[in-house]
Amino acid sequence: MKPDQKATCPSAEPKAGAVLLGVVKQDGEVALLSQRIEIDEHFIETASQGRDLGQRFRFASPCAAKGCANWSGHHCMVLDIARQLAHIEPHVDELLPACSIRTTCRWFMQEGGDACRICPKINTGFAEVETV
Ligand code: SF4
Repeated sequence: MKPDQKATCPSAEPKAGAVLLGVVKQDGEVALLSQRIEIDEHFIETASQGRDLGQRFRFASPCAAKGCANWSGHHCMVLDIARQLAHIEPHVDELLPACSIRTTCRWFMQEGGDACRICPKINTGFAEVETV
């Protein structure tokens, strides 16, 4: 990551300019997109007509760090929560999914490939529920 580049949160709110990171499949896992797609107001308005956006997609945007409830003071706690409360663990033999934000991803910066092996099992609704 370049020094002036901001880390990216891989579990962000759906706002104009955010990256559409993946689509939640029927089994609840997230199919990550290899192509970088930025969403706009039109996408949000159209896609909001179905179920809650956070249950159907994952979005990415600049990490808010200390401005976020999931920030411990020095790292993002969502992966810790996934392990401790949902008992999600990485399988070392799994290949890393293709991903459009890996070069700046906060979770990848913290845990490398292990983060990417847990990541598809996390949806935004999960993080919200577990941290309230
Ligand atoms: S944890 Fe890995 S797969 Fe998930 S968004 Fe970050 S770089 Fe992509």
